[in-house]
Amino acid sequence: MHKKIILSYFKASEKDWQSWRWQFQNRITKINILKSFLKKKSLNENILKTVTSVYPMAITPYYLSLIQKKNKDPIHAQCVPDIREVQCSDEAGDDPLQEDSYMPVPKLVRRYPDRCLAIVTEICAAYCRHCNRKRFWSQNNHISLEARLEKMIGYLAQSPQIREVIISGGEPLVLTDQTLEKILSSLKAIPHIEVLRIGSRVPVVMPMRITNELCRMLKRYRPLWFNTQFNHPVEITKESARACNMIQEVGIPVSNQSVLLKNVNDSFPIMRDLLYGLQRLSIRPYYLFHCDPVAGCTHFRTDSQAGIAMMEKIWRQSSGLCLPQYVMDMPGSVGKIPLNIMSEAIKNDLKKHKHFFLTRSNK
Ligand code: SF4
Repeated sequence: MHKKIILSYFKASEKDWQSWRWQFQNRITKINILKSFLKKKSLNENILKTVTSVYPMAITPYYLSLIQKKNKDPIHAQCVPDIREVQCSDEAGDDPLQEDSYMPVPKLVRRYPDRCLAIVTEICAAYCRHCNRKRFWSQNNHISLEARLEKMIGYLAQSPQIREVIISGGEPLVLTDQTLEKILSSLKAIPHIEVLRIGSRVPVVMPMRITNELCRMLKRYRPLWFNTQFNHPVEITKESARACNMIQEVGIPVSNQSVLLKNVNDSFPIMRDLLYGLQRLSIRPYYLFHCDPVAGCTHFRTDSQAGIAMMEKIWRQSSGLCLPQYVMDMPGSVGKIPLNIMSEAIKNDLKKHKHFFLTRSNK
């Protein structure tokens, strides 16, 4: 989808395009607007309405411009509603990790002793169809940021075991710089909070949000770690690379957490190109998540054995710096389980070289 077509539809300028506020305000949330860009027969209006009545849609003009192919486009798959979202419900329901049961105060998820996750908003720049928090999108019981922050800070101040807080959502970077700074400074003021982390998809779906002012502000709250979510090499663009570079230039490391998505990135050449591309940008591939069994996402789920085989192939051909840990997240405090590479070929290699292991018999 050429950017010029989108700009002409909105009667907007290049300057508008570069403004994150313009991108956010002009997110495509209505089916008739989407249909004026994607004239595919398969985009049946009634079907789309059925899906969006359960799981709303939001696509930034920028992310829409990355759709290039008529069929099987990886961006289309990640942002355009699909009837399969409402056709199958997975037995793990809409909160497979049981986050809602692990909230000591509203919107603060604590599944581990030393860290917790602060959900500071339920709104996103773009709604990823594979999201494991899609239950948030249409909930209308959200509480104000002031109310949730007060309770979170009160709880964290009384919990000296917690040393790390992940600021997440939704999308935390849809908040203004001032609001973000209020969150960061309140957390930083708690003496035992040593490390802050931001989980954000804006470098991928709305890279204009990364501004010099934002980076200057974030710099004041280091050690701060920034985790984003590139899932496909076509998401690595000039704009997204620039956004990540700006964050890195103020001394904040950028890591990536991909989700393994059927027909999007579950093949060796695509995953390899994504990991190579991230390495070129000095972005650390941190995790590759096996897609959770969340309602509305079953069509994205892959076979974990196939995922392991793909990662083994990548591991054999790539440097360790390119390798994320392939994990399956489990409910509650069980957390992430590494899906280790252990094919028959590797087992044979290990048998062949068993003298590399220190065992009672060869000590
Ligand atoms: S940005 Fe994150 S929270 Fe928002 S829809 Fe995408 S994956 Fe879900």
